[in-house]
Amino acid sequence: MPDGAYDSLLALNCGSSSIKFALFTPDMERTLSGLVEAIGHGQTPRLILAGAEAAPFGTQDQGHADLLPRLIEEIILPRAGAIGGIGHRVVHGGELFTTPIAIDASVRSGIATLAPLAPGHQPHNLAGINAAMTALPGVLQVACFDTAFHASVPPVRREMPLPRAYARQGLIRYGFHGLSYEHVATSLSRLGVSKGRVVACHLGNGSSICGMIDGTSRWTSMGFTPLDGLMMGQRPGRLDPGAVLWLLDHFGGDAEKLSKLLYHQSGLSGVSGISGDMRALLASHEPDAAFAIEMYVDRLVAEIGAAAASLEGIDALVFSGGIGENSAPIRASALVKLEWLGFALDPDANAAQAERLTASNSARHAFIVKADEELVIARAVAQALAG
Ligand code: ADP
Repeated sequence: MPDGAYDSLLALNCGSSSIKFALFTPDMERTLSGLVEAIGHGQTPRLILAGAEAAPFGTQDQGHADLLPRLIEEIILPRAGAIGGIGHRVVHGGELFTTPIAIDASVRSGIATLAPLAPGHQPHNLAGINAAMTALPGVLQVACFDTAFHASVPPVRREMPLPRAYARQGLIRYGFHGLSYEHVATSLSRLGVSKGRVVACHLGNGSSICGMIDGTSRWTSMGFTPLDGLMMGQRPGRLDPGAVLWLLDHFGGDAEKLSKLLYHQSGLSGVSGISGDMRALLASHEPDAAFAIEMYVDRLVAEIGAAAASLEGIDALVFSGGIGENSAPIRASALVKLEWLGFALDPDANAAQAERLTASNSARHAFIVKADEELVIARAVAQALAG
């Protein structure tokens, strides 16, 4: 093989309870994709490779750091050939990182210092970096940040209504899910809405909204940490800060207990008392499951309205993420409530998972864009290799 030539680029996307991975050729053709899901849920994690049945992988007490070395050695490397570079999703880049960057010791320690701002994600992102560095020493590794896409949000929306000295110390709204939104942005011209005001909803375990103008982020529902904005699987989203103060007092000042409540025990899971998984709630006949779903949709449409108001209008709506891509009932409930904004649902298209969800005579259109953070990561690695 000539110098610099390689067979594959590896994209690793370590989420709160999953590890998604994909291999791409130098021409960005995907040769492998898969995920390990249900990590840290008290169940045996499952490995799902595209086109194959789910299989148990590891044990229920194993976390990301335990599973990654075996995943890389047994599943990824035998299918990869020569790996030219590895890209990692990193949730929080803070003010330090606003573009993809080659990882060295100082970048790795910068990423580690931001871990307290995304405790449910950043340690897993670091576990991915550590495992890949151990398995493939000397191979280029690139960190791609979920916050970076939102660096274009204007200061008046990035800062919070607090004394501005805090903003100068970095207490600002960073926004997240940026790799997913970057993929949405690159899909807009295919949908015929590359110009104008697009409200994109990434609805997964974590959920957020991005208001874009001409494909650039101008508004985000998420904030300083991934706790703000929409109701999520385990996180509450926007809360009255007075409620947070009351809770801290209730826990006798124990911030760790409060953090556990806000990152792991709230949202769909906390409200329903059943599950944070939308599929499980939709399948349930329990009134509390229906109540949690109603709250999720209510807050979703309210935040879409807020984004549209900030953008001074809306030209198109995009659904992405596990719920946004797959759940026709959630999309239908939201779109029916958004009729006043000019969205006329096409129920058949919605049920059929069509790319366009609205009727041909709808004043504005809503679309599905399948999330593909791995492709965005692989492109960043290819660009870094090209120098
Ligand atoms: P993550 O944020 O961890 O990447 P995903 O984007 O995979 O998560 O989204 C996970 C969420 O998507 C879960 O709540 C899951 O129940 C939901 N989901 C996946 N498929 C469906 C479906 N067919 N109907 C409803 N919800 C679904």
